[in-house]
Formats: sequence, C-alpha cells, structure tokens
Amino acid sequence: MKVHPQAVKLEFLPPDRFAHAFHPAAGERPALRALTVIPGQADSGRIRDVPEPPERDGPILVETVAVGVCGTDREILAGHYGEAPEGEGHLILGHESIGRVREAPPGSGLSPGDWVTGIVRRPDPVPCPNCAAGEWDMCRNGLFTERGIKGRHGFASQRFRIEPGFAVRVDPALGQLGVLLEPASIVAKAWDHIERIGRRAHWEPRRVLVTGAGPIGLLAALLGMQRGLEVHLFDRNEKGIKPELAAGLGAFYHTGAIETDCPRADVVIEATGAPQIVVDAIRHNCPHSIVCLTGISSGGRAIELDVGGLSTKLVLENDAVFGSVNANRSHFEAAAAALAGADRRWLGRLITRRLPLDRWNEMTERDSSRDVKTILDFAA
Ligand code: BGC
Repeated sequence: MKVHPQAVKLEFLPPDRFAHAFHPAAGERPALRALTVIPGQADSGRIRDVPEPPERDGPILVETVAVGVCGTDREILAGHYGEAPEGEGHLILGHESIGRVREAPPGSGLSPGDWVTGIVRRPDPVPCPNCAAGEWDMCRNGLFTERGIKGRHGFASQRFRIEPGFAVRVDPALGQLGVLLEPASIVAKAWDHIERIGRRAHWEPRRVLVTGAGPIGLLAALLGMQRGLEVHLFDRNEKGIKPELAAGLGAFYHTGAIETDCPRADVVIEATGAPQIVVDAIRHNCPHSIVCLTGISSGGRAIELDVGGLSTKLVLENDAVFGSVNANRSHFEAAAAALAGADRRWLGRLITRRLPLDRWNEMTERDSSRDVKTILDFAA
C-alpha cells in the first residue's frame, strides 16, 4: 500500500501550509486511508486506500482527528445494517466525527483551523414535508441518506468533505472531545422532544430516570443535570467506571430493580433497548410521565406482557411514550452548547479507548464495566 507522506502527517498545520500539504505535485495522487465495509457482508471491514473526497461532498475540506464508534457501526461491521452509496460496493464507515477545517470557502461561516463535526443525515430528495422544513431527523418517506450508515460515505477517512449547512463548529477548548457531539445531538433531540411533549399541560418535572449508562445514557444524564433535575442512572454494572461517572455528575446510580430503586420518574430516557427494562421503565413512573425510547434492540427476544394493563395505565395516567432517533441541525447546535458548558475532565473520562486506525478491528470488543466510548484516533 502506498500512502502519501502528507496523508499520514496528521498534526495540525498553520493555514499558510495547507496549500502545500494538499496540492501534491502534478500527476501525484495521494492515497487516503479509510475504514471501509461491504454492507450486508459480515467481517468485510478493511482499511483501504481511497481517493481524495469528491468535491460533490461539499466545499469544506476537513482533516479527520477522530471518529467515534457506536452500536450502529458494530451492526454494520456484522453485516446486519448499512448501505453503500449508489453504484459502489463499499461504504466508508464513521458517523461520529471531529476534525479540523483545512479549506473553507468565503461565506461558509467556517475558517481553516476550526474544529467541526459533520451532521449525519441528509434530507430525502423528494423532499418530504419534514425534510423540506429542515427536520430530516423526522423524515417521513425513509429516502434520507446517512453518512457512514446509509447510502453515503462516512467520516472514517483521513480527510472528508462536507457542505457548510451540515458542518457544526465545536468549541476549540473541547478539541478531540468534540467527537462526543454526535451522540450528544441524539440526546439533545430527545430532550427537545420531551420538553415539547411536556408543554401539552402544566409540567414541573423533577425526577429523571435514564436506563443504560453507555454514552447515550451518560450524555442524557448530563443534559438532565444541566437542566437542574434530579437524575437517576440505572445500569447493570455494579462496579467500574459507570458508577464513578454517575457520581462525577452528581447523579444517583442504581443496579437493582426500577420498581423498588428508582420509581416515579417524571421523565424516562431509555437507552438499553432491553425488552424488560423498556417495559419496567414504562410501568413504574409517575402520572403524566414522558418516556423517550432511544435504544435499538436486535429483536427476537419475546417477553410476556399484559398489554391491556399497560395501556390502561398509560391512559389513566396521561403517560406519553415515544421513540427518538437521529438529530437535525438545531440539535447539533444545542449539543455543541451543552458540551461546551460541561466539565471537560468528566467528558474526557467518557472516552475509554483510543485506537489508532491500524487497530480498528479491536473496536468491536467491549467490556461494559470498563468501556464507554471507543474512538478511532486519526492523529495517533
Ligand atoms: C446514529 C443516527 C442514525 C441511526 C440510524 C445512530 O447510530 O447516531 O444518526 O440515524 O444510527 O441509522
């Protein structure tokens, strides 16, 4: 494999050196290293040389600093999910990004050196009424595309391009921690919709239950604390980093049963997707509670459920249960503000593993008592 020397030199260069770094001699074609997968084919993850990102991806050229790994990436690597861009066999993975702008046209609102995260979803081409209104996270026809997931290359290559409307500036003080912006955007959307539903009647929430202390659960807890609420995190790990992270936030931490340990929440953010926890979270909360489901289950595990009893409880208590996925630009911006206002040492502890690109195949390994967020560190 031939790697262009400038392509592997990932430390940040001052603006006056960009031109030199990114305009190799005529005829010389730099190879970029990228993590790719053949969607639908298990164990097809590979590091490949890919061409420079095409101009059609957008006028902003970004040097990738890090890419976060989540359950969706693991599903794609296992061949269960994902779609290559039309006419191509492979997909560049990566939808949780942080990078530094190398080239930005005047009027784009960004300048070389800025730290940015890329928005994941692009509106469907029809577009449906929601995509037309900038709410691609609520797309109605399913024809949207998602970088690194569905029909569009992702950010796990040494450089990527992006459109100004889909690049979000990150507080430079966060630096590499900006890789948490995408998962934070997911919980910013969840909170946005919880609060909109809350406004259906007089609402003074006090207690929040977050089930699952992975990255989504911990960031949901952070945003709950930032709202001045009493936050309870529920997880199965009795020891390890998760109770420590909960304590670091000032949140309560439980491992027992929702019914006895942390009932009567006004707001529940469910981030496990585990059937029994989902049901318990819906069952044991207070009247006119709002339950937001964010976890995705692989399905296939049936549990016994008294649907009539549950529906009666929902009706008689005016409870709301809803699902939430993805995020639009307003949620990315809310997440950027939330991370900028958070304790950076605490955020730093969420990143429990940094893998250089060559060790990408370790990204699917996980010990839930020790690991929160794994990232591919492009600067390593
Ligand atoms: C991403 C979302 C995406 C969803 C479904 C999640 O991992 O964070 O942006 O919409 O997967 O593809």
